[in-house]
Amino acid sequence: MPVNLLTRPYIGRLLANRWTWRLSRLTALCLLVAMAAWGWHQHAIPGLAVRDPLMYTNLSSHLFWVWWLMGIVFVALLFGRLWCTVCPLGWLSGLLSRIGLRRELPVWLQNFIPVTLVLVVLQLSIYFFAIHRYPDYTAVVLALCLLLTIAAGLIFRPRAFCTLLCPAGAVFGLYARVAPFQLRVCDSGVCASCDSQRCIAEPQEWQSYRLGGTIVYRHRRLDGCPVDLVPAEISDSADCLLCLNCAHNCDKENIQIGFRPWLADLDLRGLRSSETLFFLVLFGMLTTNFSKVYVELRQGLFWLPEQTAQLLGWGVSGYNLLAVLWVALLLPALMLLPGWLTLQLSGLRHHVALPPEQTSTLPLPEKSTGFWAAACDLALPLIPLLLAAHAVLALVKINAKAGYLPFAIADPSGVQSYLAMNVMHTMAAPGVLIPLDILKWLVLLLLLAGIVLAIFAARRVSRRHPDGMAFFVAALVTLVLPSGFYLATVIQWLFVR
Ligand code: SF4
Ligand code: SF4
Repeated sequence: MPVNLLTRPYIGRLLANRWTWRLSRLTALCLLVAMAAWGWHQHAIPGLAVRDPLMYTNLSSHLFWVWWLMGIVFVALLFGRLWCTVCPLGWLSGLLSRIGLRRELPVWLQNFIPVTLVLVVLQLSIYFFAIHRYPDYTAVVLALCLLLTIAAGLIFRPRAFCTLLCPAGAVFGLYARVAPFQLRVCDSGVCASCDSQRCIAEPQEWQSYRLGGTIVYRHRRLDGCPVDLVPAEISDSADCLLCLNCAHNCDKENIQIGFRPWLADLDLRGLRSSETLFFLVLFGMLTTNFSKVYVELRQGLFWLPEQTAQLLGWGVSGYNLLAVLWVALLLPALMLLPGWLTLQLSGLRHHVALPPEQTSTLPLPEKSTGFWAAACDLALPLIPLLLAAHAVLALVKINAKAGYLPFAIADPSGVQSYLAMNVMHTMAAPGVLIPLDILKWLVLLLLLAGIVLAIFAARRVSRRHPDGMAFFVAALVTLVLPSGFYLATVIQWLFVR
């Protein structure tokens, strides 16, 4: 069992205190609103014919695209869904649902399809409008997130925004299966004999405040689990938002959070069908993002949509549309194809020269696995590899752009610092945090660790899979292509070029 951080001196009291989280979420919410404000109306520098001058010097786009989006990858790597604990949007949605209609989400929306569509729309807006390059577009995205959070909070039950519209939450759900961090009950026997069930019952209580000689009582309802989990029944960390409501509500101090071995949840169950769709889209997008630094490989990757667009006589917009379809669906599905074919081949049996009358005595073939059912399992060993690739991208981005932070803080609009660095040359552009000679080895180690973990993951999943060793071989075959692709990119980019 992991060391229970909730019982450790100092850190335990800090984690168990609701105000720790309230203040963290409030700070994050203020930061989000400030980021929207800093980016508002900041598109370019008037009179300067440069496409995206404020991409890194503006505080809004710098904080959001460099620190926020990349930083949470490292949080997910080590702590799974811990970011959800301090996410201001989830918190706001929960707060508003107290006064809202608290409708249940329709059943047809309770899957990963809406969030997959949001991910695709985000990718489309990056391709078509380059939203990551302009602070005003970033500000609009942030403002839209806030508005949708408010709407979801007022209409639906707590955290509907997270389930419906937050791709980050779905990404964390995948990575939480691998990360060495979890929330569980300390002793399921205590839960079995627990009368209060306060962790799931949305308990109500009177709270007292002393004002001089007067005591004021306030009646309040404590938040229950926003995703309807029963702590004693949690077996994997994919769905738990780590909001800690159950830990705060439990009157037996029977909830623990802490570190555990890597990959702990991977062998419990395959991905859900719609979650596999989300995984494929993410897999395709990260893989093509990775190829940005290896031009020849990237050209090869986009050869098919390029040729198709030419054949159809489509312009840039048509090509972009085909590219998104290719990146988000066809390419990742093709990358899983060799593994699925291996599984199919393992089901073949041969018998030499049997007389026709004996063929009827042959055992019936085992039920063959359809592509989608196989993909739900084959995706599991790919998760550590994808996480490693994601962490590499985040590390490289933070390393290259972190140096802009002091300039962006000094001049949130980014205009003055851009002009000083690039037009008047009175200020040098910031360098990297870690020198390239060290970074390249860090990147290689991170990627190799991901590949090794992926092989261990394949072994773990194959132990519970009905096809056993055949699945292990199929999973290894599935890993070959993306691992080779990521390794080739890193070697070409950081060691050869
Ligand atoms: S987690 Fe705590 S409140 Fe919930 S059933 Fe177990 S002992 Fe009871
Ligand atoms: S199980 Fe506990 S920590 Fe996890 S989402 Fe539910 S209430 Fe929050």
